Amino acid sequence: MKKIIIFLLFSSLQFSIFANEDLNDSHQNKELDVTSKIKELKERLDPMKRIGLNLAFQKEIYQLEEVMAKSGDGDVVGNGGGIVEMMFHSAYNNLPYLLEVCIQQENCNISKQEKEILKEMSEVIEININKSDKFAFIDEKYSGFFYEGPSNTPRVARTGFTDEFPIYVNIAQLYNMLDLVNMNYITALIVHEVGHQIGIEDHDFLHHLGLKVAAMARLDFKSHSFDIPGQSNYQLKVTQSEGHLKSDTFIYLKQRKHNFNISEAILSEFSCPKNYRDIQKINITNVRQTSSAIFLKDFISELEIEVHMECFDSLEGMSYSAKKAESFQFVFWNQENNEKLFKFAKRIPSKN
Ligand SMILES: [Zn+2]
Repeated sequence: MKKIIIFLLFSSLQFSIFANEDLNDSHQNKELDVTSKIKELKERLDPMKRIGLNLAFQKEIYQLEEVMAKSGDGDVVGNGGGIVEMMFHSAYNNLPYLLEVCIQQENCNISKQEKEILKEMSEVIEININKSDKFAFIDEKYSGFFYEGPSNTPRVARTGFTDEFPIYVNIAQLYNMLDLVNMNYITALIVHEVGHQIGIEDHDFLHHLGLKVAAMARLDFKSHSFDIPGQSNYQLKVTQSEGHLKSDTFIYLKQRKHNFNISEAILSEFSCPKNYRDIQKINITNVRQTSSAIFLKDFISELEIEVHMECFDSLEGMSYSAKKAESFQFVFWNQENNEKLFKFAKRIPSKN
């Protein structure tokens, strides 16, 4: 606790030094637009208020951690290998590039002041990008944490007013609205939260800034899904951008309310012919069940997954494009009530 308070004081002092510098500058430079300067200061939290809000938020975190410890859930930071968690990490890793594009390009449609804010966000992202605890994915059991102030609707994410706080994510809510969640949405959300971390309080302002960055990136992510004949309980879902880049392709198995991330299990099994580098683009074009069987307590479904893939050889400037199919075993627990619960997926080695 002590350490955090000291940090909060320090970061706020730092902030107030900058604020004073701003004031001195405007004093010297009479040509400066006074009204825009006032507007700019209004958008930033007053340093003392910022300390107070951070302390209050820290208190809420302690309470959350206490409740979690009592329920045996231990550490607040969950890494989770789910599809949404993966999208969060991926979107964060993309942000330095996206913000740079937005700052450099004339047509990003942002004001001078917003540009300065994005620069500041870049610095925070640079600091936190390699930290595994930059996100805390909070289970549904503790969703009370996301009700803030008098509002009746929970927030999707929360953070404090310094980059020392993780971004707390209401993960259950996102899984409940999975059809609406894509990289655009998550990118805008992260920009919003990082905006709070640099001391901006205004949710609406950050919401719009986040949308501008996401729109600039033209992250036209779309989802498509494959029904599996005879297996109405599960669906294979693919979320990716129009460009079908392998790096922005996410594959998951949707089974009623559960979503299992199988991106790695599937994507790693498709490879380029020898002299070509790794796959650049991939798109699932067909999924069909070739057989199904019950073995002891397992239900095994064999699925053939057909993809269209492109590889590129940078030295020769040649590209390879082909349709390829691989067969996978999807293994489920076959439970007493005949409910099948997904265990894992693995490739079936081809016979030749
Ligand atoms: Zn907000």
